[in-house]
Order: sequence, then structure tokens, then C-alpha cells
Amino acid sequence: MHVTYLPMSWKSGDNYCYLLTDEESSQSWLIDPAYPSDIMDYLTKKNKTEVASIVNTHHHYDHAGGNGQLLSSLYKSVPVIAGKDSPYVSYTPSDEEVIQLGKNIEITALHTPCHTQDSICYYAKDKLTDEKCVFTGDTLFTCGCGRFFEGTAEQMNTSLTKLMSLPDETVTYPGHEYTASNAKFAKTVFGNNNKALNELEKFAKTHEFTTGSFTIKDEKAFNPFVRLTDPYVVRATGKNDPIEALAELRTMKDIF
Ligand SMILES: [Zn+2]
Repeated sequence: MHVTYLPMSWKSGDNYCYLLTDEESSQSWLIDPAYPSDIMDYLTKKNKTEVASIVNTHHHYDHAGGNGQLLSSLYKSVPVIAGKDSPYVSYTPSDEEVIQLGKNIEITALHTPCHTQDSICYYAKDKLTDEKCVFTGDTLFTCGCGRFFEGTAEQMNTSLTKLMSLPDETVTYPGHEYTASNAKFAKTVFGNNNKALNELEKFAKTHEFTTGSFTIKDEKAFNPFVRLTDPYVVRATGKNDPIEALAELRTMKDIF
């Protein structure tokens, strides 16, 4: 299993497109290729793999907005796997549906409604090497989570809990590079009392691209949005109820 991250709309949206490749068959999923002109050079000159599917984590234009252009240029007969609200979608997997990529990769679609109702995270496992990773779109960011545009705190809590139940060693690939600002916000919650967060803050200062550097285990350690019963989260939000704490954290982050 190989993952290539392709930065798009950098210094503006700080978006990531991903190419997930099964090395034995050279087949790939192209995930959230929203800005084709930013990645065209890579796709046409450097990428030797065959794109089996275009995949979207959700319907927002900065994730799904490139589908039409890619279908009419590079990938004329490639299916689009995405939630029901994405443009040009040809297949929407059901929750927990497993899709094979190439020879060795099994991908489980995890419905994670809240940021949008059609949000889907994709958990990939290589049967040969046992590597695991998850593409989390705008549901889970490194040390953060997405805005609740189409859902409730309860839904986001259910979605994040689902992701946190993946194996600890699962590498996370979010839809945007927000790590530095998320760590800054998390410091207002934990102060200097979270060692993992202190390390994350240092890492973010020296790395422009942090995607693929952290795991589900790391998120459980430093992400306030999945540590809702942590005494520092309870204190910062003033809420003992985890759902209320999550709603309050999101409101605090929205105005941060
Ligand atoms: Zn979004």
C-alpha cells in the first residue's frame, strides 16, 4: 500500500488530494482531486499507476469540485465513488461496505455524517503487509474535527467514535492541513499538561505537511474533540456531558 499526498489550493484552502495505490497491481484510488490544475502535472507525468476510481469524502466543492473536469479529460470511463450529493457520482457505498482495490487493499466505507450528511471516511487495509490507514475528509483533522455544517454534535460524536474504534496503528489522512492552528487551539484547552500535544505543536512548527505522520492512537492522545471526558476539556467547556462538551468545543473553535 502506498499513499501519495498532493497539496492543492495551498496557502488558501490547504487541501490534500490523495493517491492510494495497491503496489502489486498499480491500481489507485484518486481521493478528493478538487483542483485538477494543481495536480495535473503529477497525474500526467509522474504517476505510473492506473486510476481505478475517483473518490470523494464529501460533496463540498473543495473536495468534489474536480470530478467533472477529470472525467472529461484524463479519466473518461472511471467511476466516481462518493456520497449521494457529490457531482457525477456513479456509486455510493453503504456504511461498512468493503470494496477491493487492486490485489491486496480492502477499503471499508464508513459513513460519518455531520460536517455533511454524505460524509464518508475510507479505511484501507493491505492484506499482504497489514498496513492500515484512513482518509477522513473534513470529519477528523489532526488534533481537530470538521464544522457541523449539516449535522449535530451527537452525530459528530458518533462519527468520531467510529473512527476512534479503528486499530490504534491506523495512519490518518485528513482533507486539509490544519494541524498548526488545531494544536494552537488545543493548547488553550490543555495548557502545557498534554505531553503528546506539546510534541505535536513542535512537529507542526517544523513541518509544512503533517498528513500521514499520525495515527488513531495519537488522536486519542492529543485531540480534544475525542477526549470529551478529559478533566481539562470538562474544565474548558464547563460541560460534564460529552455531547455538550463537543458542541461547546466546536463553538469555541469556530470563534478562535
Ligand atoms: Zn467540507
